[in-house]
Amino acid sequence: MTASYLVTGGAGFIGSHLTDALLARGDRVVALDSLSTGRLANLDHAGGHPQCRFVQGSVLDELVVDELVHECDVVVHLAAAVGVKLIVEHPLRSLTTNIRGSEIMIEAAHRYRRKILLASTSEIYGRNSAESLHEGSDRILGSPTVSRWAYSTAKALDETLAYAYHKERGLPTVVVRLFNTVGPRQSAAYGMVIPRLARQAVAGGALTVYGDGNQRRCFCHVGDVVRGLLGVLDHPKAVGDVFNLGSAEEISIMDLAHRIVARAESSAKVELIPYEQAYEPGFEDMYRRRPDTTKVRNLIGWAPTRTLDDILDEVIAEARLEMALGADAPT
Ligand code: UDP
Repeated sequence: MTASYLVTGGAGFIGSHLTDALLARGDRVVALDSLSTGRLANLDHAGGHPQCRFVQGSVLDELVVDELVHECDVVVHLAAAVGVKLIVEHPLRSLTTNIRGSEIMIEAAHRYRRKILLASTSEIYGRNSAESLHEGSDRILGSPTVSRWAYSTAKALDETLAYAYHKERGLPTVVVRLFNTVGPRQSAAYGMVIPRLARQAVAGGALTVYGDGNQRRCFCHVGDVVRGLLGVLDHPKAVGDVFNLGSAEEISIMDLAHRIVARAESSAKVELIPYEQAYEPGFEDMYRRRPDTTKVRNLIGWAPTRTLDDILDEVIAEARLEMALGADAPT
């Protein structure tokens, strides 16, 4: 049976891929996006589709949200201020969008009894660098004066609100914690490492590796993430629960930079940049962040299908195309 979905952040990186996938299976989509970080070009594939409607607006606009939630069956709330660079540079706007925006979405979903999926983040685990993080792992945070921990707190608060609405009001909520998600359409403008390094490699300048490059991450293809989102959205037993979604293939950022140089057949150098220069004084990075995805595998049989090399080849190809069209490499 098909349904209509409200996708907030629908013109964003993950939102636009989710929109494509929903349309491909016959569902209807209303994509709400303020276009502050989303791009209309991301919906080029979906734009002319008769089952897709784009609405430019903010999740902070209660009237718009009320109307759109009312007309849809399911809400997928992806709109958020994301990207460590953006959050560090605009802490106030990020907090308002993430806290108040989610509250408005959850309240509207409750008003009309709509199922809501809330996108959370691996940032909520803070500096916990355990071998692998499961959904019950502790949050380990520094001072709230550090923007990164404030962002982590905001997203955790969103989750808490969703759990409370589920428990006390019976709202059908699903929370998904996204780990590093990458692939085509991810902008290089908000600090994410793979789109940045791929564009730097293609341009032939220096690849900017922050800190000592020993920090480790796992990168999951957006196509796999979207399949996971749909899987938990469709599964009745996911309601009221939280799931990690991400790859467990781990790599240090220094090795990642060299891998990108090799795959792009680039002559670019790799350069170390101190964190305080890249972000701000007092910036703290996570040493490692690797998900345990046993829970989502047990529920829907989910596992990533694309390797890091698949991802890099796609992102490098996109970077080449952008360069051919005249875009600058990020500095
Ligand atoms: N990073 C880097 N060079 C860049 C951008 C990011 O070395 O040009 C590092 C960043 O400091 C972090 C890792 O790459 O250690 C992943 O950064 P990203 O912002 O993509 O995701 P995060 O895991 O920090 O949310």
